[in-house]
Amino acid sequence: MATIQHDVIIIGGGLAGMRAAHEALTQGGDVAMISKIYPTRSHSAAAQGGMQAALTEEDSWESHAYDTVKGSDYLGDQDAIEILCREGVDDIIAMERMGVIFNRDESGKIDARAFGGTSAKRTCFVADQTGQALLHVMWEQLLRLGLKTYDEWFVTDLLVENNRCVGSVAMQISTGQLHLVRAKATVLCTGGAGHIYAPSTNGLAVTADGLGMAYRAGASLMDMEGVQHHPTTLKSNGVLITEGARGEGAYLLNSKGERFMENYAPNMLELASRDVVSRAETTEILEGRGVDGTVFIDLRHLGRELITTKLAQIYELARDYANCNVIEEPLPIQPGYHYLMGGIKTDVDGRTWDVSGNNKWKGVEALFAAGETANVSVHGGNRLGGNSLLDTVVFGRRTGAGAVEYAKSVDYGEISEASVKDTEARIKSLFDRPDGVRSATLRREMGAAMNDGIAVFRNEESMNIALQKVRALKEKLPEVSLHNSGRIFNTDLLAYFELENMMDVAEAIALSALSRKESRGAHARTDFPDRDDENWLKHTLATKGNSGPEISYLPVTITKWEPTVRSY
Ligand SMILES: Cc1cc2nc3c(=O)[nH]c(=O)nc-3n(C[C@H](O)[C@H](O)[C@H](O)COP(=O)(O)OP(=O)(O)OC[C@H]3O[C@@H](n4cnc5c(N)ncnc54)[C@H](O)[C@@H]3O)c2cc1C
Repeated sequence: MATIQHDVIIIGGGLAGMRAAHEALTQGGDVAMISKIYPTRSHSAAAQGGMQAALTEEDSWESHAYDTVKGSDYLGDQDAIEILCREGVDDIIAMERMGVIFNRDESGKIDARAFGGTSAKRTCFVADQTGQALLHVMWEQLLRLGLKTYDEWFVTDLLVENNRCVGSVAMQISTGQLHLVRAKATVLCTGGAGHIYAPSTNGLAVTADGLGMAYRAGASLMDMEGVQHHPTTLKSNGVLITEGARGEGAYLLNSKGERFMENYAPNMLELASRDVVSRAETTEILEGRGVDGTVFIDLRHLGRELITTKLAQIYELARDYANCNVIEEPLPIQPGYHYLMGGIKTDVDGRTWDVSGNNKWKGVEALFAAGETANVSVHGGNRLGGNSLLDTVVFGRRTGAGAVEYAKSVDYGEISEASVKDTEARIKSLFDRPDGVRSATLRREMGAAMNDGIAVFRNEESMNIALQKVRALKEKLPEVSLHNSGRIFNTDLLAYFELENMMDVAEAIALSALSRKESRGAHARTDFPDRDDENWLKHTLATKGNSGPEISYLPVTITKWEPTVRSY
């Protein structure tokens, strides 16, 4: 059996993984990065609008932190939010020094645009291709430092002995060969859960792999009911129209041509936080003031010059995917699945286990997580736009450092080769199955069920229907058969592994959402329309039990901002 071994293994080559790898390497660790797609193709490259930090003298990290706490509907942990907003300022400067050419204002300083839910213009950007710029610069730096990477390798399972992660099993996609991956510290940076929902703004590779693997390994998934629907996505395929468009001044209109946000968020209008805007749009559509399930985003008054420079990609996406020239006509849009606030519970150094020794939550020693797959709890019930890229670099960096430090203090754990043989046997049994269900069919049905039942608005009945549907689909997993039983580049096999991960995570989302009997942030229940701090100012944890996820709770960390009424 082929084995590879590094002190720190980072699984995922998006912005979080790259930032973690950069930090770990700079600190002198023996580090390698595994990615199922070529790293620069990671979903981070699709980020359009920008990245927040309080860079100007008139602004302050405290103000950014307060906006983030309020945006989270008071579910974010305030100690982590303080770190995000305070350290994020230097992280942006560090990215700039590495080579990210942020847009400049007239005086030559890094420019910033307005974003939803923020009290100052503090979203730094590179036109509407910010993620692409950040990711490519990080990649150049990693090439310069000589990082060892295993590109187009798919991690199927984590290996845990005595509640400590001792490595993982990975398949080299080009050959189908399985490898035992030994590590002192394993860092999950595998991104979000995008294709649990259909449609979705996320790239096709965003399939909850790390979340599923960590959950099965014994880690806790926190606040999984926190699913963000972005207010402006194209109806046909979920393609995102960046919040930067509204940040630059675009309006939202209903079928009567009214700027309906005046009725929902009289101060912030289109730039209220995402949960608020998505609910407003959905209400307009449900009350008959939409057109064919959509409302409109209107950019016309911004003019050709601004649109074709600062929003050039949006111009092209609208033209190519919606046959709409945004310089001349309003573009039909609707809320669509975008981001998972929930994730693998970590502390502020990316550790998934509770180092206090008090067992406040269940985790796995030597397993770290950062980026969208993790939940260090800076987004709480609703993420502010531009805070996720910041989360990936701030906590990617801290987690890379944490993993190196941990790895220095331990030896490699023992791994039995039986673990790899288990995966091999699973694959063989898949190949041997007679004609059965296609995994793509189950995936499509899961996407529709989640989108129908646990979307912008939800209630006991809708969520129960989604849960039952997901469970019924999960029972069909043993009937899935593959059309391709070759070992070389078998994407059919990978799709099956991805589906297994997504089903586990979908079930955790449904159960967490059912358990929270209030409305907070993006979790808007028609049967419990109010926020209830007395009973629900706490995190939900979903951990694997004998017959599915078991739900428990953890207090929210409050440092200085006591919950108050949230209005925009
Ligand atoms: C269209 C779009 C626009 C966005 N715009 C913004 C924005 O303007 N501002 C902002 O702050 N946020 C934005 N976001 C959110 C933000 O981009 C993401 O949350 C963030 O980039 C996630 O980074 P990540 O490193 O955690 O994951 P990703 O970039 O998704 O990377 C995940 C990595 O994990 C690897 N991987 C996954 N599973 C496996 C496996 N089984 N084995 C091996 N490797 C695996 C993949 O190959 C990939 O390299 C946007 C998101 C989308 C979808």
